[in-house]
Amino acid sequence: MKNYQLNCPYCGAPAVCRPASTVYGNSVRNKGSYLYLCSHWPACDSYVAAHKQDKRPMGTLANASLRRKRILAHRALEEFRRSRHMEKWAVYVWLQGKLGLSPEQTHIGMFSEKQCGQVIALCRQSQKTQYQESA
Ligand SMILES: [Zn+2]
Repeated sequence: MKNYQLNCPYCGAPAVCRPASTVYGNSVRNKGSYLYLCSHWPACDSYVAAHKQDKRPMGTLANASLRRKRILAHRALEEFRRSRHMEKWAVYVWLQGKLGLSPEQTHIGMFSEKQCGQVIALCRQSQKTQYQESA
């Protein structure tokens, strides 16, 4: 298994891969899940989830505020996707075009708070346009 080197963007400390239960406690939902945790956690409240199969980090480490923003951005994108009956890949292609990013850069798990705000605004705007078109 590959080891991923990540640093905390807030305090610079290296991240460590730990079971998700370290943060969330034991639950069926988190079984077999891993997180990259700032080695200064919990003093530094910064982490990111890992993919289940290969423990690849889902993005950059995020503090509470950024984690919340990323959840909201995911939610806005999912609502937009459903309202347009788009496939998941298509919505990311749309987002790449809107934000001027490459496919490698277009992962909400890598986005800053500002970029998450852009995603939310774009989704809302585009949904509104659709309602006007169909009215
Ligand atoms: Zn840290």
